Amino acid sequence: MTIKNIFVVGAGTMGNGIAQVAATSGYQVTCMDVQPTALEKAKAAIAKSTAKLLEKGTLTQKQKTSADAIQFVTNMDTIKDADLVIEAATEDPELKFKIFKDMDANAREGVILTSNTSSISITKIAAATKRPDTVVGMHFMNPVPLMKLVEVIRGLATSDETRNTAFEVIQRMDKTPIEANDSPGFISNRILCPMINESIFALQENVGTPEAIDQVIKLGMNHPMGPLALADLIGLDVVLFVMEVLQRDLGEDKYRPAYLLRKMVDAGYLGRKSGRGFYKY
Ligand code: NAD
Repeated sequence: MTIKNIFVVGAGTMGNGIAQVAATSGYQVTCMDVQPTALEKAKAAIAKSTAKLLEKGTLTQKQKTSADAIQFVTNMDTIKDADLVIEAATEDPELKFKIFKDMDANAREGVILTSNTSSISITKIAAATKRPDTVVGMHFMNPVPLMKLVEVIRGLATSDETRNTAFEVIQRMDKTPIEANDSPGFISNRILCPMINESIFALQENVGTPEAIDQVIKLGMNHPMGPLALADLIGLDVVLFVMEVLQRDLGEDKYRPAYLLRKMVDAGYLGRKSGRGFYKY
């Protein structure tokens, strides 16, 4: 099936970035959210981002016009027109299973349903539908317009055709798809979050100050950001949640969250979004 029309479910941080990139890549895009305020924010964020990229010369006027044509809706009525669906709603397993049931009931037969989940099993999400062969993970990175990688996660039943179509769509968005099998944290968070967690253990055991830990990894290992600064950007609650998923689903003690991470989340020190994490903002 030729993909022309993409329906994005969820207009938050990731949903609006995905809608923007899909539109500027030439797809007709509808962005749906249950919260009208989220849609208003998404519309404003896309207008601001595309205006900035146009000014910088990264986007053409035609691409900006495509982004301006994104439809914003509060229900799934027009999902029947979609050739591909990308779900980027709140990270809550029960909510995602319900959304996938609804998408399955309303999207045309054969249409591929994808999820941007960071931590929920694609195999389980697919099992909520009657079309598990056409369900696949498309894990975009934040901020979507700038980041090149999209992890493509194959559930147990994902067909080759579904995987290949996901690859084609991502390449048309000028991004690089990398395939991962369905396993807790996929490739990205399986490696990134334990590294961040280990740096929190190092801080907790007074191996170095936050600045020293970050500088060693930045200057010595050539990472663009230190792990503690990155944790502040991602959100300490999100890092804790992923570590708990890894520990529970892989059943290994090596994934246990650092006690300091838990304590900071309990205190409401969530990083940039709360104004305080390992650093003050
Ligand atoms: P967010 O909280 O910014 O946005 C989620 C949106 O989903 C909200 O606007 C909410 O109103 C909406 N929503 C809730 N229920 C809905 C429903 N039934 N139908 C339609 N919309 C609904 O969250 P986010 O950071 O954009 O994350 C979205 C997904 O992307 C999650 O699965 C998350 O794990 C994943 N993800 C996030 C990041 C990140 O850095 N934020 C990175 C990669 C993947």
